[in-house]
Amino acid sequence: MARDLNPKCKQCRRAKEKLFLKGERCNSPKCAMIRKSYAPGMHGQKMTRGLSEYGKQLAMKQRIKRIYGVMERQFRKHFKEIRNKQGVVGDLLMVRLELRLDNVVYRMGLADSRNVARQLVNHGWIVVNGKRLSIPSAEIKIGDVIEIGNRKKEKTYFKNRLKVLKNKETAPSWININSSTLKGKVLAQPDIASIGVNVDPQLVVEYYSR
Ligand code: SF4
Repeated sequence: MARDLNPKCKQCRRAKEKLFLKGERCNSPKCAMIRKSYAPGMHGQKMTRGLSEYGKQLAMKQRIKRIYGVMERQFRKHFKEIRNKQGVVGDLLMVRLELRLDNVVYRMGLADSRNVARQLVNHGWIVVNGKRLSIPSAEIKIGDVIEIGNRKKEKTYFKNRLKVLKNKETAPSWININSSTLKGKVLAQPDIASIGVNVDPQLVVEYYSR
């Protein structure tokens, strides 16, 4: 499976914004956006030129792709899936991305970044409605139950996650999570207003409509 191997902190610096791609480190003083909050490269500090309309649309598409860790082909596929549905296309795109299995695992607090969540899914550690599901892009539906596979629950990784989750509320309101079993149920569609990522998906719609 194709992955974006570009250094994660450089992706944030290019986007000129924290994209929270590295879990705990992103909230620490070691974050590159605190130490070097300018674009990477030799001329990064001098880059002040404004972007054209096309440039803004392209930059927004790249930003959303990086946040969710999705490659161009998959991102375009998600766009095609929702393009003809009823509703605001930009919002539908964000809902589709939020309902990716790897993102739901991240939102449940089973991983501190989407990257780690994707690895958990890829390695077959996640079970949906009683069946192992190892496709990170799989669309989760309302009512689906997501949990850790029986044989994986004893892993030190999950024992540590249990401790983390007991001390803080991590899941959004559309997921109900039992913090002692790490089992979650999707109760509703993600609420766009509370997704918590600073993006304008309408620019992506304009980009693909050119
Ligand atoms: Fe981005 Fe900072 Fe996290 Fe690096 S540490 S990925 S710069 S938010």
